[in-house]
Amino acid sequence: MNQHAKLDPAPIPFIDIAAQRRRLGRSVDDAVARVLAHCQFVMGPEVRELEARLAEFCGARHAISCASGTDALLLVLMAKNIGPGDAVICPSFTFCATAEVVALTGATPVFAEVDEATFNLSADSVRKAVATARKLGLKPKAIIPVDLFGLPADFEPILKVAADENLFVLDDAAQSFGATYKGKPLGTFGLATATSFFPAKPLGCYGDGGAIFTDDDALAEVIKSLRVHGHGSDKYDNVRIGMTGRLDTIQAAILIEKIRIFPEEIAARDRIARRYNDGLRDVATLPEVPVGFTSVWAQYTIRLASGRRDALANALKAEGIPTAIYYPIPLHKQVAYRGFPSVDGGLTLSERLAAEVISLPMHAYLDPATQDRVIDAVRRALAR
Ligand SMILES: *Cc1c(COP(=O)(O)O)cnc(C)c1O
Repeated sequence: MNQHAKLDPAPIPFIDIAAQRRRLGRSVDDAVARVLAHCQFVMGPEVRELEARLAEFCGARHAISCASGTDALLLVLMAKNIGPGDAVICPSFTFCATAEVVALTGATPVFAEVDEATFNLSADSVRKAVATARKLGLKPKAIIPVDLFGLPADFEPILKVAADENLFVLDDAAQSFGATYKGKPLGTFGLATATSFFPAKPLGCYGDGGAIFTDDDALAEVIKSLRVHGHGSDKYDNVRIGMTGRLDTIQAAILIEKIRIFPEEIAARDRIARRYNDGLRDVATLPEVPVGFTSVWAQYTIRLASGRRDALANALKAEGIPTAIYYPIPLHKQVAYRGFPSVDGGLTLSERLAAEVISLPMHAYLDPATQDRVIDAVRRALAR
């Protein structure tokens, strides 16, 4: 780090989408230009090519692109006829879309607790939430585990609860596409997996986008129909209530270029996370990656003792270093969601995490000097 940077630090970005844009160079411009030339803006050839690459990337039989991560989740619930009277178990410590899609179908999200080390859904709590749902007269139908901050949920015990209780599992992999669990890529656990290509996600496009993964041929067919207004033999044969849920061809063309460099970016994110771990081990509670799991580090999120977070955020802000809080209010406390039930016994850990976590700048192009600036600033702020 040079002296000038120390005296007058330039603000650094939380996620540097422009750095990736520079690295991709003309390849993205050329890919977009090809779409502008052929003019097949909806369901053009790049959409099918992207779907083939996504399926190949994670080993799922089907990859179905769609308009957003939220639509990806919703399309699976719609395809399974989830609706009023049904309960879907999900965490409260997540982005709102996880529970929003359940409510949109008319079903009831039932919030379960997460695990203290990983912040991901606890299978024990899911089992209790199933009992809570039954007691309320609801029919438990599904579990939506979330791979929070890029780390896979612990699928084995969750799939065991699902099998015992006759529920299906829909993995909310909006933050975690590219991660692995026990040697297998996400996209292959449970009945279906949903991901998002929102620009800030590990694999992002230049607008909104998403995808669904499944090995179930019949489910894939229904989802493809729902994606285009519930079409039957053609688009003017409407056999079910669907939506406009397609991914734009231009976004598919951009993602084809980005998926080429995605493995390298995942490796860079992991290197950067390890470097944060080395620099911060003695000053905060660091993210844990259990043996047999890999993370794509959608966020690098640390946990502090209660009451220390605002001071850290303000000290870093004064040095041009942004931070973010994912998530400041657990869903069961949100105005739109507080009417939905939580597991018996409550969600005290989710509430505590919401008050204690803070995320540091994380992206594949965070260079060592900039990262040292972050580590140094965090250490100084926490030593106060
Ligand atoms: C981003 C996100 C979504 C929704 O994805 P969109 O593409 O923004 O609709 C769903 N669940 C989680 C956990 C997310 O982080």
